[in-house]
Amino acid sequence: MGDGPSLATAERRAELRANLARVRERIEAASRAAGRSSAPQLIVVTKFHPASDVRALAELGVTEVGENRDQEASAKAGELADLELSWHFIGQLQTNKAKSVVRYADTVHSVDRPALASALAKAAASEPAREGRPPLACLIQVNLDQDAASGRGGALPGEIPGLADLIESSPALRLAGIMAVAPLGEDPARAFARLADCAAGLRNSHPHATMVSAGMSQDLEQAIAAGATHVRIGTDVLGPRPRVL
Ligand SMILES: *Cc1c(COP(=O)(O)O)cnc(C)c1O
Repeated sequence: MGDGPSLATAERRAELRANLARVRERIEAASRAAGRSSAPQLIVVTKFHPASDVRALAELGVTEVGENRDQEASAKAGELADLELSWHFIGQLQTNKAKSVVRYADTVHSVDRPALASALAKAAASEPAREGRPPLACLIQVNLDQDAASGRGGALPGEIPGLADLIESSPALRLAGIMAVAPLGEDPARAFARLADCAAGLRNSHPHATMVSAGMSQDLEQAIAAGATHVRIGTDVLGPRPRVL
């Protein structure tokens, strides 16, 4: 065995190619159905899948990759440093992981509390690997669950303005927009309509914060209808993830 990168089998590459084509077609169709002039950007969520899959996806034209665990993302980004990929961190993030995440991530979708914004600001400002790179793009993750005590992570809508100002106050960060995961047990179209309201409110005070990150394998059509600019698709491109024990 040589020291070259590990590669996906021809069979796996064919599977990824077919899945990716189907997802791209769904995105195009949903954009047309919504009367949109442009389709959202596809972020392929590669969590739990090997770096060889990400390399195969890059050969198929994927440039945006999403990961939700720092240890795994950091290892993959290191292994794939020869590729022109943009890494999106989309998972819940502990403040003590900020230093690691700012080394490889271009965008963090899950900024949900002041302590995390501050930790990312401090880490991004002092990380040598960020010199010469644009500020870290930050999205405020919004909790769309109407029962605020539950929910799949995120700031409450009322907390958005304060977090936005905090992110804007750091030269090492750039407020890019908003992100959410549709709550379980509710029609995603209704939840994404609330996200669209939050996004409009944010653009009102911060006109350049235009990213709306919403839509996963199950609900990308509803997210696109509600104005998502970025969809995060894992399962329908890569297949099922191994069960977490
Ligand atoms: C895993 C994950 C996705 C992708 O979900 P799929 O259903 O596999 O498409 C999107 N967003 C977040 C925040 C995730 O954790």
